[in-house]
Amino acid sequence: GATRVAGVVGLPITHSMSPILHNAWLAAAGIDGIYAPFSTQPGRFRAFAESLRGGSVAGLNVTLPFKGEALALADEATFRASAAQAANVLVFREDGSILADNTDGLGMLAALAEQAPGFDPAGGPVVVLGAGGAARGAVAAFVEAGGPEVRIVNRTLARAQEIADGLGARAFPLSDVAAAFDGAVAVVNATSAGLSGSAGLEVPIEATPAGAVVMDMVYKPLKTPFLAQAQAHGRRTVDGLAMLIGQAIPSFEYFFGQTPPKSVDVRRLAIEALGL
Ligand code: NDP
Repeated sequence: GATRVAGVVGLPITHSMSPILHNAWLAAAGIDGIYAPFSTQPGRFRAFAESLRGGSVAGLNVTLPFKGEALALADEATFRASAAQAANVLVFREDGSILADNTDGLGMLAALAEQAPGFDPAGGPVVVLGAGGAARGAVAAFVEAGGPEVRIVNRTLARAQEIADGLGARAFPLSDVAAAFDGAVAVVNATSAGLSGSAGLEVPIEATPAGAVVMDMVYKPLKTPFLAQAQAHGRRTVDGLAMLIGQAIPSFEYFFGQTPPKSVDVRRLAIEALGL
């Protein structure tokens, strides 16, 4: 058969972990495939994606700032992508059509399953901190999981309210975060406040039940101030790197038609590449 080609497009793209993950899996599985980084200018993304219709590229991962445009140009979208209002996967079908999906929420659920064994995303109320693109995908995944209540806490309440209204969740201002934490089985930081160089998110983790799982989407550093705070209170924690790997797995399945081999330690590779 012909070499299968896929890639990732974004701006900037040089720091993307996706080529490292996918190419390690391709090599380990012995698949005749290539996964390449593509950089394109903001005004050129749509034309680039359109030019791949029905051609020899199997699919693309899409990263910032093109996730919204990727969804808009697709002929069909999964619930997850529509709900997130963003696509991180485009699949170029042989009939010339384009399918959009969003595997970020799946990655979050996979990270929780992997690092907090036994966690049930439908087992009680869950809290998403933040109301940006990443939060939207997380809320969509939790709503799809079917738990009793998804709570969105954000500094700017109006942004949380908009997502809550659209997806059937409940919005809280940051000043009411303790009320949102009450009875929660999971708290996921989807703000950018855990980034190194900032003070980190200061929230009353002790207001969560002792069995709650605390996750940060930020993965640099691997143990963010938010996760360190959660561990200090004895909470189980889940890191953002597991989510990054977790979104890549279903992407690989779309592009190369099989599950990535378990024999390669992509987490180790990513930790080395990121200098974590
Ligand atoms: P956005 O810029 O779209 O959203 C940022 C959010 O963070 C907003 O809700 C904003 O609140 C909030 N925020 C920022 N600073 C603070 C602060 N100091 N205090 C309180 N709230 C704050 O970002 P994204 O949604 O695209 O990404 C969020 C994070 O998730 C990023 O760090 C990103 O790297 C990470 N991410 C990780 C992934 C993974 O695979 N691990 C995948 C996707 C994203 P407000 O609305 O009030 O401004």
